Amino acid sequence: MADEFYVKFWGVRGSYPVADADKLEFGGNTSCVEVVAGGNRVIVDAGTGIIKLGQKMLSEHHAKPKEERRDGLEVNLLMTHTHHDHTLGFGFFAPAFSISTTVHILGPRMFAHDLEEIMSMSMLPPFFPVQLEDMGSVKVIQNVKDSDVIVFDAPGDPPLVRHRKDDLSGLGDGVLVIENYRSYAHPQGGNVIYKFTYRGRKFVHGTDTEGYYGGDARLVRFAKGADLLTHDVQYTDEEYASGAVQGFGHSTPRMAAETALAAGVKQLGLIHHDPRHTDDQILELEAQARKIFPETTAVREGQRFDLL
Ligand SMILES: [Zn+2]
Ligand SMILES: [Zn+2]
Repeated sequence: MADEFYVKFWGVRGSYPVADADKLEFGGNTSCVEVVAGGNRVIVDAGTGIIKLGQKMLSEHHAKPKEERRDGLEVNLLMTHTHHDHTLGFGFFAPAFSISTTVHILGPRMFAHDLEEIMSMSMLPPFFPVQLEDMGSVKVIQNVKDSDVIVFDAPGDPPLVRHRKDDLSGLGDGVLVIENYRSYAHPQGGNVIYKFTYRGRKFVHGTDTEGYYGGDARLVRFAKGADLLTHDVQYTDEEYASGAVQGFGHSTPRMAAETALAAGVKQLGLIHHDPRHTDDQILELEAQARKIFPETTAVREGQRFDLL
């Protein structure tokens, strides 16, 4: 298997999915990111983008020789938080219905509820026709804290949750290490920012966060020297300055670009596009961010960034 480290975006829209013709260059599905490192695949968030990814994973699995299929599909899903735009696709994620699939879900505990309870609550009747426990797969759901590090060692291994202070040096250089911190710059209960490190390359996923002009110091420190930083840019700087959206937990091109510049990252990807913004408006946000940080891309649904 080729050694690879890439990040592919299956949904880059924030808040709710859209299908308007003038928004489809950037895409209408909500948050879902696929991170592939060596033989391990981790999905971040289960917005509507996860539906198409799930169908692809299942068809690839079914195309394998029978003996390779015997152990079933292993799915690793990290949740940044559990707002609807990040969970909406899970009830339509085909692999989770298969009894031969194991789904590992890791994410934050919120408001004194374990992640397992929250995922279950998001699908309760009368809001949804299928409950979490009715989905046939084996589900292993764990809370993740700031002090935890998630580790994937050999390809196909389940995630190991270790303490940040643990010595990971014995694990070899092909290990995928995921650090995190809880940002409270998103209402209510905050949001987890994840950093993926594989063979010395780093990807930091800064979705659903309200930045600061001059750069978010905590995110700058966490993302220092990353190969790719993705950053929320739901609002224009003009919308933000008007005060109408302050405190909503989202950022502007200037906030994203100033954070990328201060962190000295190699590339900045703008994500969590406002569902009201057309393709032309998103291109305008990209142009504004590039004035501060030239290596900026407004991320399109389906776009892939190779980091190795
Ligand atoms: Zn969101
Ligand atoms: Zn949110």
